Amino acid sequence: MRPPYLLLDIDGVLIPFPDEHGSTPATHARHDVVPADRSADNPVTVWLNPDHGHLLMDIIRTGLVTPVWCTSWRQDATTLIGPLLGLPPLPHVDLPRPQITTSHPNGYLWKRDHVDAWLGDAPAVWIDDDFTGHDHAWAAERTARGAATLLVQPDPHRGLQSGHLTEVTRWVARLPSARAS
Ligand SMILES: [Mg+2]
Repeated sequence: MRPPYLLLDIDGVLIPFPDEHGSTPATHARHDVVPADRSADNPVTVWLNPDHGHLLMDIIRTGLVTPVWCTSWRQDATTLIGPLLGLPPLPHVDLPRPQITTSHPNGYLWKRDHVDAWLGDAPAVWIDDDFTGHDHAWAAERTARGAATLLVQPDPHRGLQSGHLTEVTRWVARLPSARAS
């Protein structure tokens, strides 16, 4: 079996949402970035944890996963966010820009249909803060038909924790592809 994709969200995972007081975790440092669709005088402030770069690189270097951005940051994930964490240029799932007012317009994560088509029957671990029960059922169905699928869902106010990546490492190590190599 080929290595699973590691699909990575950004908002609510690498960039936690502020709490009710507008605070972000003390572990995160402020950066101002200019997405491709904005002008230089209209930057976006993001908060990133430098430790995430090290933690992600520890997994990426094993070669046991194929990392891919899966985020509404799209190409900006590769050009703006990744470098701030010391990550190499990673490909991204080319998500559309739907006119939606909720991230679950059909009761499940809006990205999922695109991801499902993009993955085909490839195994995948997908880290996103915004799955619903329908997404977890989708993952179970994929796994049952031979496309091993793990969803990892951080608390959007805390973001990615080292334990999430431990879970990923353990899951990957149990796959046939890892055992064969
Ligand atoms: Mg998110």
